Amino acid sequence: MKTASETRRILDLLETQHPDADTELHYQNAFQLLTATILSAQSTDQGVNLVTPALFARYPDARALAKATSAELEPQIRSTGFFRQKSKALIGMAAALVEHHGGEVPANMEALIALPGVGRKTANVVLGHALGVPGLPVDRHVLRVSNRIGIADSDDPVVVEQQLCTALPPKRWTRTSDTLILHGRRICNPRPLCDRCAVTTLCDYYENPDNPSGPRARPRLGGTGKKKAKAHRGTPRIRRARR
Ligand code: SF4
Repeated sequence: MKTASETRRILDLLETQHPDADTELHYQNAFQLLTATILSAQSTDQGVNLVTPALFARYPDARALAKATSAELEPQIRSTGFFRQKSKALIGMAAALVEHHGGEVPANMEALIALPGVGRKTANVVLGHALGVPGLPVDRHVLRVSNRIGIADSDDPVVVEQQLCTALPPKRWTRTSDTLILHGRRICNPRPLCDRCAVTTLCDYYENPDNPSGPRARPRLGGTGKKKAKAHRGTPRIRRARR
């Protein structure tokens, strides 16, 4: 795995490549971001942004949302998918905010993950973007990109969060997550566009696509004939001159 100074250097380069990295969810306060982030599970930020203006107009705060019924809420969030579970989580989250936090979003991890529908990733999004508390959300993009490059080495999002947070100062945590997410969406997607990447010379995966430090980057290859061809399906082909 990369050293802390190598990790910082890599993030410097990626931040230069993606100066616009930020959450793409639209919000005006912590309650709205918490609501939008819960809705973003298994959905796109753009899809969430389509439903939240009307949602926030009807339920401007936790007290209003806590009084909603599933029958009222579900049609409004249906297009984001899993609307029944999300409706239940949102109403439960709002009721817990009213009951335990005076209707405000608490600014600490333990209190946030105690809320219905709120996991560590969602809590870190809200802490880092809306509450001024350093947080490094690890989603599937952060997991894939960080393992490929070699700045993390685990399939476990909590371990990856710890590894990145150890290598970087707290003031960089949230920006790092935003940057890795954007890099994963634009360039280092499941079929990475390595010829457009700013960190090719520092990336473990680029050096060796079969490197075990990228456990999710590529399936283990083995077998022959059809079996081997199946294992290769969907994996990127990286061509470069041998140095
Ligand atoms: S060189 Fe390729 S695999 Fe490595 S971070 Fe860049 S796009 Fe991803």
